[in-house]
Amino acid sequence: MLKSMLARLHQGHRTMAYPGAPPPALPERFRGRPLIDASRCPEGCRECVRACPTAAIAFDGQLRVDLGKCLFCTECSDACPAGAIGHGADYRLATRARGDLALAAGEPLRLAQALERKTLGLFGRSLKLRQVSAGGCNGCESDVNVLTTIGWDLGRFGIQFVASPRHADGLLLTGCVTGNMTLALEKAYAAVAPPKIVIAVGACAISGGPYAGHPQQRDGGTELLPIDLFIPGCPPHPLTILDGLLRLLDRLPPERSATG
Ligand code: SF4
Repeated sequence: MLKSMLARLHQGHRTMAYPGAPPPALPERFRGRPLIDASRCPEGCRECVRACPTAAIAFDGQLRVDLGKCLFCTECSDACPAGAIGHGADYRLATRARGDLALAAGEPLRLAQALERKTLGLFGRSLKLRQVSAGGCNGCESDVNVLTTIGWDLGRFGIQFVASPRHADGLLLTGCVTGNMTLALEKAYAAVAPPKIVIAVGACAISGGPYAGHPQQRDGGTELLPIDLFIPGCPPHPLTILDGLLRLLDRLPPERSATG
């Protein structure tokens, strides 16, 4: 016991200071959203469109990218002969509306705004979520789980995961929603007492990701449930997920809460 207490004293306080301080440094291989330099793409050769595994990038006179479908895989930038596509390092990607994830070249991302005032009054300082993995690969689930570790300590914001939807204020959905999980998801949603919120984490939960169009799944939860927050990525970095949750709950300090 004494040894344990000495070890804890030696380790000190290990939870990051973010969002009160700047976010932790991201690894060099971190990839933010695809950024398109339209001036380098006058011809529209469509090599990127052909290379994209999820039809997240399209050309209709100008290049457009749908972050809800994007796997952040760099196939588009690798395929572009003109170097017109790169990947930013901005971890902030969450939006309130599905349509806000579809961007034309150069268009700024409309980042998520806080919940409506009444709902914010209920959940702003205490939000209990039931996580439903509806056919996920465990990538998004793992990065959500990271937020509950000592370095991130999601509980300090009053956000906790609970075992039963009956104890929850909402669902956090991952996975493309397989046929086998559809009824379970619907039952979990029905078991949450209103008012309730739904958060979709990852390309699969938003659009089906690499499984989109497959008959054994539902292309994510967008058509099934009223989703309040879309957090794109494959999987999203824990910082991206935390940023989205804190935006939704209006818990970011002013210097980090810009919405566009
Ligand atoms: S990063 Fe990958 S999934 Fe996203 S637009 Fe480019 S090729 Fe498509």
